[in-house]
Amino acid sequence: MTRFQAPEPQSFDKVLSSMCTEPAPVARRAAEEFLATNPGDPGTFKSVAGLEQETISLLGDVVGLDDPQGYVTAGGTEANIQAVRAARNLADVSAPNIVAPESAHFSLQKAAELLDVELRRVETGADHRADPEAMAAVADAETVLIFCVAGSTEYGRVDPIPALAELADSVGARCHVDAAFGGFLLPFTDAEWHFGHAPIDSMTIDPHKVGRAAIPAGGFLARDDSVLDALAVETPYLESATQASLGGTRSGAGVASAHAALQVLWPEGYRAAFERNMDLATWVTGELESRGYPVSQPTLPLVTWVPESELFEALRAAGWKIARTRTGAIRLVIMPHVTKSMLESFLADVDQRRS
Ligand code: PLP
Repeated sequence: MTRFQAPEPQSFDKVLSSMCTEPAPVARRAAEEFLATNPGDPGTFKSVAGLEQETISLLGDVVGLDDPQGYVTAGGTEANIQAVRAARNLADVSAPNIVAPESAHFSLQKAAELLDVELRRVETGADHRADPEAMAAVADAETVLIFCVAGSTEYGRVDPIPALAELADSVGARCHVDAAFGGFLLPFTDAEWHFGHAPIDSMTIDPHKVGRAAIPAGGFLARDDSVLDALAVETPYLESATQASLGGTRSGAGVASAHAALQVLWPEGYRAAFERNMDLATWVTGELESRGYPVSQPTLPLVTWVPESELFEALRAAGWKIARTRTGAIRLVIMPHVTKSMLESFLADVDQRRS
């Protein structure tokens, strides 16, 4: 008989480019307790369904919505797919397109392919933010969605969301904000990014990233229930009548853990984490600049810098879990598991290996 050997759990000691982090202890416990529950069948799994409603309501506080509609998704990808699906279903056009900055996450390409919607990607400005004029130039009467990013994956940048919401209105399209990464950081900045700042229709915000919930816990939020209605299908053999989520059976662990993290950390725990991570990002920016590297000034705790050509591979060979932007810059994502001593040891490896 083969004996079960527990695999080594993931170590975060050298993880510097991931948007995932260790869940908050309370979120980990909640996930374990709800492992066998399915919020996709709310008639049967009433308790987790109630937690999901409360989670959406707590997320509403984060994103400036009094009466939020939505559900806990498997992640940012599902939420982005649902945004495109709702916009397409609500529009009455024969050849729908969506207009997005090139900085939009690649999940948007999956959404476009799955839903047979044309994706028009538009170059960003030198500041890596969406350019509303350039986006207006390619939007037309068949545009069903203007897609904006609040905390981009590569540079942590926030698009000019009020201007993009205005553009959406002018072409009769919906407006979606992808705050999968930025949603738990931006409340502590003066950025204009949420439902209270602009007439946006829907949003992606992921508790399983900066929200410190266990995976899978993403969020799809909408201003009104017409968006959810546009996603709903009938569910004849469940106790509930319709289902708006993309997945059928879903993770109760994700829901319960998002609920626990939000209850305990919103807002002061998230604020403290934001301030700590931003301080570290500013510190490491100074360290890299003092070594002569070009660094994009962080607006969120995400530092992007251009290394010598061989350095990236050398640092990876030294065990650092790092990734690059499309143009070859290294991204350091300062998540809660990243400490100053970890960054000091990374910089020591940079010093040892640079040419
Ligand atoms: N949107 C943004 C801005 C992201 O950074 C990511 C992932 O990093 C996603 C969407 C996709 O999220 P997930 O990997 O949870 O599906």
